[in-house]
Amino acid sequence: MFWEFIIIATANSGLAKSSNLLRTKATKTAVEAVVVAFLAIILATLLTSYTQHNTLNFEAIVDVQSTNTALWILDSLPIVFAYIGQYSSYMIANEATMLVMEETKELRTYASQMQMQANLAATHDHLTGLPNQALFYDRIETAFRESHDVSNSAFAIMLLNIENLKDIQDTLGPTSTDLVIKQLATRLESWATKRHSIARIDSGNFAVLLSDSDKDKAEALAKSLIKAIEPNFIINTLKLTLHPSIGISVYPNDGDDADTLFQRAGIAVVFANKSPSGYSLYSASMDEHSSKRLTMMGELKRAIEKKNLELYYQPKIDIKNNKIMGVEALIRWKHPQHGFISPEEFIGIAERSRLIIDLTALVIEDAFSACAEFHQHGHDIKVSINLSMKDLLNPELPDLVAGLTAKIGIDPSWIIFEITEGSIMSDPTRALIIVERLKSMGFDFSIDDFGTGYSSMAYLKRLPVSELKIDKSFVLDMMTNDSDAIIVQATIGLAHNLGLTVTAEGVEDESALEMLNKMGCDIAQGYFFSKPIPKAELLSWIANNA
Ligand code: C2E
Ligand code: CA
Ligand code: CA
Repeated sequence: MFWEFIIIATANSGLAKSSNLLRTKATKTAVEAVVVAFLAIILATLLTSYTQHNTLNFEAIVDVQSTNTALWILDSLPIVFAYIGQYSSYMIANEATMLVMEETKELRTYASQMQMQANLAATHDHLTGLPNQALFYDRIETAFRESHDVSNSAFAIMLLNIENLKDIQDTLGPTSTDLVIKQLATRLESWATKRHSIARIDSGNFAVLLSDSDKDKAEALAKSLIKAIEPNFIINTLKLTLHPSIGISVYPNDGDDADTLFQRAGIAVVFANKSPSGYSLYSASMDEHSSKRLTMMGELKRAIEKKNLELYYQPKIDIKNNKIMGVEALIRWKHPQHGFISPEEFIGIAERSRLIIDLTALVIEDAFSACAEFHQHGHDIKVSINLSMKDLLNPELPDLVAGLTAKIGIDPSWIIFEITEGSIMSDPTRALIIVERLKSMGFDFSIDDFGTGYSSMAYLKRLPVSELKIDKSFVLDMMTNDSDAIIVQATIGLAHNLGLTVTAEGVEDESALEMLNKMGCDIAQGYFFSKPIPKAELLSWIANNA
């Protein structure tokens, strides 16, 4: 209504002014014509009177006016002009009014279209056409009222986050990302029933309101939504897998206002991100966890910027000759207040954000420098570096590695990158591209924590790895648990059949080492030889154990 009023009022007043102006102009022209006609009559009468009577007196003028027919015609002109002036002024006014009416009609249509667009922009997402956050909040309010006044039933909010959307954007650019989002929106719409209301909150975040749903129903729906997102998305012949995380909060248990429910579903998303199921229901214990995590994330960011992290090195021993053949670089963070924080704790936090990319860059630079130093001291050893899932999806990693290799001056064959099956399997196509690029530069790869992930023989065969590391959980237990011993033996056999070297982690005593030796294992790593130690200590360890 507002738009319509403004546009039509402005336009109408403009048209009305123009119409008046036209009428005034027409009247003015008519008056001018009448004046000219009068002047012509006077001039003609004077001229005729002088020609006929050689004088300009009153009798002569009356005579010519009453006898000369040409002057009679001339005398009628002012009346004709006045009449034509009046008539055209009337016609112009009429036409102008018609024009105003037509224009008003057109403007009214245009204004109502603009009004509709303005309404839509205020309540809907322009890319997908789905409701936006504001409309979603409205719908939550309606759900509150319905539940409170009528049905007294529970309802749930699901927040869906596409965890790898930023990576997709970095690799494919914004246009393809928009296509992914549109396809996802279509898929969400075909998944949803009338009882679900979907909204797009921002880039990779969507929300679903599940009316008449308690915890159990919401959980079942989260599972079915994850299934619906599972099939590949095809963008310009490229197959993409999206990584959804779903956080759920339920009314009335988790909150009784839109903000609280929304915020708590958001907290649950963070936990869903780590959960193998891909979804997570909000629980009160998450609050404390998430504020601790947020604080730690900020502190870790500063620690990375200030390079307050240190790499420790743990020797890897060649079982055949009992000599050090390499080291694994393991990060350490000595927090100013909380003291030593285990990488198990902060690597997880870094992996949930893009901090891991900066952390890995720091680790690679330090490990390359240490490796160069070891070789300068005449120690021909390899340095193993851990890579995370996000590193394997980071298209800038090969260039970063190439740059540091040249800058620090190392040989790529001195380095082994450790990757896990899980980090490959999250998006095998993209991860393989990065692995193969690094491999072509001369870097070696190792499968870490072997046996803990969902091993896929098909991928194991395709991966250009040269080493397999048996997870320490099997090695630590193999002396007391027969099935662990069988797994270790079988893994060694499998690796050798595939032409890979086998390293056993978690070797804590001599009996374990002996057993591994009998099983034909190639390399051992563990507290029996040394815990991870700083670089300077490692150099003296090597000197003492040569
Ligand atoms: P991981 O890659 O499996 O590293 C081996 C872990 O086993 C290390 O824990 C090491 O200290 C520990 N370990 C070594 N020998 C023994 C032993 O004989 N007995 C027992 N019980 N444990 C042993 P750490 O240093 O706490 O690292 C934990 C995990 O954190 C690593 O597991 C790795 O996944 C991750 N991590 C550490 N440093 C980095 C890093 O620079 N980048 C990335 N992305 N992850 C890292
Ligand atoms: Ca490792
Ligand atoms: Ca490991």
